[in-house]
Amino acid sequence: LPERYKGTEYSVWVEYIQLAIEHKPDCNLGQGFPDFPAPPEYLPKYIAEVTESNHLMNQYTRGFGHPRLVNAIADLYSKLIGRKLDPLSEILVTIGAYEALYCAIHGNVGPGDEVIIVEPYFDCYEPMTISAGGTPVFIPLRNKSNNPDSGSSADWVLDPDELAKAFNSKTKLFILNTPHNPLGKVFTYEELQVIADLCKKHNVICIADEVYEWLVYKPATHVRMATLPGMWERTITIGSAGKTFSATGWKLGWAYCPKELMKNMVIVHQNCVYTGVTPIQEAVARGFEREISLLGTPNSYFEKMSSMLQPKRDYFCQVLKDVGFAPTIPEGGYFVVSKWSDLAHKADLNSENDSYKDFKFTKWMTKNVKLQGIPYSAFYCPQNKPLGEDYVRYCFFKKDETLSKAESILRDWT
Ligand code: PMP
Ligand code: GLN
Repeated sequence: LPERYKGTEYSVWVEYIQLAIEHKPDCNLGQGFPDFPAPPEYLPKYIAEVTESNHLMNQYTRGFGHPRLVNAIADLYSKLIGRKLDPLSEILVTIGAYEALYCAIHGNVGPGDEVIIVEPYFDCYEPMTISAGGTPVFIPLRNKSNNPDSGSSADWVLDPDELAKAFNSKTKLFILNTPHNPLGKVFTYEELQVIADLCKKHNVICIADEVYEWLVYKPATHVRMATLPGMWERTITIGSAGKTFSATGWKLGWAYCPKELMKNMVIVHQNCVYTGVTPIQEAVARGFEREISLLGTPNSYFEKMSSMLQPKRDYFCQVLKDVGFAPTIPEGGYFVVSKWSDLAHKADLNSENDSYKDFKFTKWMTKNVKLQGIPYSAFYCPQNKPLGEDYVRYCFFKKDETLSKAESILRDWT
């Protein structure tokens, strides 16, 4: 393995998806994806039409994004950020948000550069930084309430002094994820302002991973980093059709930013996959066009998604509380982080030989209770993993019957 990939070998997704294949849990709340059909009037409808109506949809399209799709993305975000986006120079279409993150990190980071990552973090930020030759610098979310185990994701905040100390002349990127995976935190305008001021002061680019932008529960509201004063110039915003249209298997993502910031990213893209999948892009373009016309109306799917998910969140969090977990109520996204360690006496942790207790717990649960979650320490850097060991992450974007099955599994177990 080339030196630059050393330290990036492990992936919790590879291990836990294999674990689910082998042990077939009755309830898989691990990797995040809906277990019910994507809205039929959006992507599934269009994909059937696309290749039949135009044979060119089976061939290559424009490398940096299918024209109809970049136009639709430009239309939508021009409205949302209040600035006219140029579809040809300010948007890149990628293979999932993963590739957009990869291009943004690899296009900007080299040896000696530091990348600030808010901890806990969506795990891929760290290996992508390392393989680019950069050094990750972790800044923790800390709980400001008296009882860290019975609150809301809003209780988890960055300490302004600690944050300021993380920046220096080597800092190249700040990676922001709002709404946040795994915690479900939705950063407020004031919180973003503090980060924005530091990015401006130290001339740092902000990667805003906003893939859960439509999954926000009242009264929280999503604020786009690119809309803060002076931040458009230095923000690369990343989105995902997988999250936006509840179709994670489509693996279509995008980035939008000023054309000066786009230049480096497209080099990584053109020398890696060069172009994305044509019919998928055409179908997503049609989905966006439909949605743009519905935005702000009761029929807007983006807006309906949170109202559909909020009762699932409330129901599942209550189940977790009832059986003895301590959930942190998420303000956004579709995961709930929950303390499991008060139930440790009901599990045989010694039957698993992992270094971390949460890995032992989640593996034991998958095999014996048949319910899968993701060990929370996977979202911490190696030296801070002990901070995550008492917690587990569950996905609640599931059919009501799946969640009630989870309830009976958990009640039977406890
Ligand atoms: N960022 C975050 C925070 C995520 O949770 C995910 C989940 N997949 C991604 C990026 C990657 O999205 P995609 O599936 O579109 O590659
Ligand atoms: N973002 C999803 C999650 O956090 C999927 C992760 C993945 O597929 N690697 O579960």
